[in-house]
Amino acid sequence: MIPVSLNQIAMDTRGRLLAEGSGDTIAASVTIDSRTVAGGALFVAIPGERVNGHDFAKAALDGGAAGVLVEDPDRAVANGADPARLIAVPSTQDALGHLARASLRRIREVANPLVVGVTGSVGKTTTKDLLATLLEPRGPIIAPPGSFNNELGLPLTVLRADENTATLVLEMGADKIGNLEHLTDIAPLDIGVVLAVARAHLGEFGGIENVAKAKSELVSGILPEGVAILNADDHRVAAMSSKAHKVVTFSATGSGDVTASDIALGDDGRASFTLGHGGSTASVSLGLVGEHHVSNALAAAAVGIVSGMDLTEIAERLGGVGAASPHRMDVWQSGDLTVIDDSYNANPDSMRAGIRALSQLGKGPKVAVLGAMLELGEESDAEHTGVGLELGQLGIDTLVAVGAPALAEGARQADVSAVDVTDIESAWPVVLSLAGQSGTILLKGSNGSKIWQLADRLKEEM
Ligand code: ATP
Ligand code: MG
Repeated sequence: MIPVSLNQIAMDTRGRLLAEGSGDTIAASVTIDSRTVAGGALFVAIPGERVNGHDFAKAALDGGAAGVLVEDPDRAVANGADPARLIAVPSTQDALGHLARASLRRIREVANPLVVGVTGSVGKTTTKDLLATLLEPRGPIIAPPGSFNNELGLPLTVLRADENTATLVLEMGADKIGNLEHLTDIAPLDIGVVLAVARAHLGEFGGIENVAKAKSELVSGILPEGVAILNADDHRVAAMSSKAHKVVTFSATGSGDVTASDIALGDDGRASFTLGHGGSTASVSLGLVGEHHVSNALAAAAVGIVSGMDLTEIAERLGGVGAASPHRMDVWQSGDLTVIDDSYNANPDSMRAGIRALSQLGKGPKVAVLGAMLELGEESDAEHTGVGLELGQLGIDTLVAVGAPALAEGARQADVSAVDVTDIESAWPVVLSLAGQSGTILLKGSNGSKIWQLADRLKEEM
């Protein structure tokens, strides 16, 4: 952020300094980690599940913090913190949002950063990573690490930007109606990207139409002169154009403003295609594994086009992005065994994409080690059985189902041999026995199913 005084922060957050004397002290940055306050940061005390930030108020001030934002002033004072450095607010999490909103507004008064937000049920982090590389030539860029996409991670990312920031890329997650309205209120967008409306978090939303409604809030959060980038291949996303001032569409399978043709998968599973826009074309060779990333790459390309980059440069830069983050389509080899580690997370759509990748890339016997897809509500059993059936249709030889009996049931109905275990511990010997053999293994499941632990152990073993 642009450095501001504690008085200004109190005004931005509708808070009050507990005692007089330090209102002119300048805070240079914002953190929720009391160990990273050196150089005059504002420490925001969050009452977490395991640790309560208020217990570190004094340590933060001793370590060089300019001040501390608190919602439980008594606890911070009891901890020994100087009241003149404490700003009390009703909720520190909400205050973080207010501060981020005010900070971005101050930046826009003196500079002209391009603020890009990405949402969708799948592909947000991948697209954010593609954008971070693609838009680098514009100048200093801020993009969050990992999936920093919620009401804590997003304001913290916004607060890393200052008047020198040329581009701010934000991942915006939603698991409730109203989430994206809140996030885009903190950071109104110049460019907003909606990737897909899939069946992630279906249980909490109570139906896919509500998922669509929640994602459409991002489009409403685009500034009047801004542009919505919408996936024409997803009819629920395409329908959001009615809420947008200006729209650019992308399509991997049909027509749109930005398109892919001649999609091909190399032996290593990396996708290549011809990028098309306004009658021009350029060849793209992605460093990412799996055909589904073509759609994410098109979304990123559309942002590049809107921000004024030329097609050839876009194609070149997109090709420079490798396997995004750990456990996302990370393909590795040991002897005659290939491992496709996509164990970061799963919902029915990304699970099908993973299985398709196993089917297309797999050499030798194809084994899917799959955990449960969580948060599917009432449709959970039917979704698991459906994915199980699909394993048969796509020619997968063996399924190891971990804590997902309905998945095993569906696979058996489709004549796939299925091993059905209850948890990671009982799955490990089965997975280990595969390690010495030839073939291809896919590891995937919802984050909470912890299939990534199997991936980590397997990598150590091989
Ligand atoms: P989260 O909500 O957990 O932060 P995300 O939207 O950021 O997820 P990614 O981390 O990019 O998504 O990808 C999650 C999983 O979905 C990965 O397994 C990835 O390979 C798969 N995936 C990414 N894009 C697509 C797509 N367009 N279609 C299907 N699956 C996809
Ligand atoms: Mg993510």
